[in-house]
Amino acid sequence: MIETYFVPEKLIAQIVEHLQACHPEEACGLLAGKDQTFQVWIPIANVLRSTTRYRMDPEQQLQALLLFEQNGQDLLGIVHSHPNGLDSPSQTDLREAYYPEAVYFIFYRDGETWNYRAYRIQQDSYYPVAIQVTKSTLSGENIL
Ligand SMILES: [Zn+2]
Repeated sequence: MIETYFVPEKLIAQIVEHLQACHPEEACGLLAGKDQTFQVWIPIANVLRSTTRYRMDPEQQLQALLLFEQNGQDLLGIVHSHPNGLDSPSQTDLREAYYPEAVYFIFYRDGETWNYRAYRIQQDSYYPVAIQVTKSTLSGENIL
């Protein structure tokens, strides 16, 4: 049984805008929300400034996690880009997947556009997660 999560269309647009601004370096960030619904995206600087690797700025990551907690939201997703186009987790991604409860979004370059796939990563293996894009406004918007 494949899990389904819900993402507002506007959130995807915000993510793509950030990834495109950082391209060709890998970019990353965190998603929070409640239950199966993503509500907030926070971009985090990639301290490696690499086209093939990422490591989130620990200070920004901590600030984001504190903000989620203050807002009563859970860390639901980890986003990073694959400018080279790989649409699945790399060996490094599997090794460095520290949040088995989060959904890992991989945004990959497909020609000039960005596509994405979502996975859950557990113990060196990964499973696809279904993402349903919704038209609703961001419910976390007014508290940020
Ligand atoms: Zn990766």
